[in-house]
Amino acid sequence: MSRLDSFIRRMTSQKILLEYLVEKVNQVDGPVLELGLGNGRTYDHLREIYPEKEIFVFDFAMNCHPSCAPDADHMILGDIRDTLAFCEPRVGAKASFAHIDIGSADPTNDLAIVHWLAPLLNERMAVGGFVLTALKLELSNFETLDKPEGIHPGRYHIYRKV
Ligand code: SAM
Repeated sequence: MSRLDSFIRRMTSQKILLEYLVEKVNQVDGPVLELGLGNGRTYDHLREIYPEKEIFVFDFAMNCHPSCAPDADHMILGDIRDTLAFCEPRVGAKASFAHIDIGSADPTNDLAIVHWLAPLLNERMAVGGFVLTALKLELSNFETLDKPEGIHPGRYHIYRKV
């Protein structure tokens, strides 16, 4: 499979999964967390599919397309390893959904990320809240949910806090 095909398949799965979770996430109170603003593509989609939810976005810097820049109150700048631990005064309630898009494409770096990310996420998520991520996380207080048909096994993971 060419890199173009692989990219298209990844983006298609991401969109399908984001939309698949909307109804379930809307049954849980609390904001949405977007970890990894990047170009702003998934943030732009999240604000379209979650018009009623507050969305807080995390990244080292704001380098997105100008049409999808979060406002200053909702853009949390810095290393997520620090900011996720200390964002409660700004974010307030625990999150109903976290979309994690910070994989590095380097397996060793990804292992390091999952090591520090899992306990921070556990702290920030509401009971019943959902996590969608391409990183396989060891989350002891979460169950792993099945994905809808057609999503490549192992490509994305859905967790729900119990
Ligand atoms: N969701 C984005 C989109 O659809 O355009 C793509 C996100 S991009 C793949 C990953 C982003 O995560 C980059 O902008 C990078 O700066 C950010 N990132 C990765 N690790 C981070 C960390 N530890 N703290 C803050 N930002 C991080």
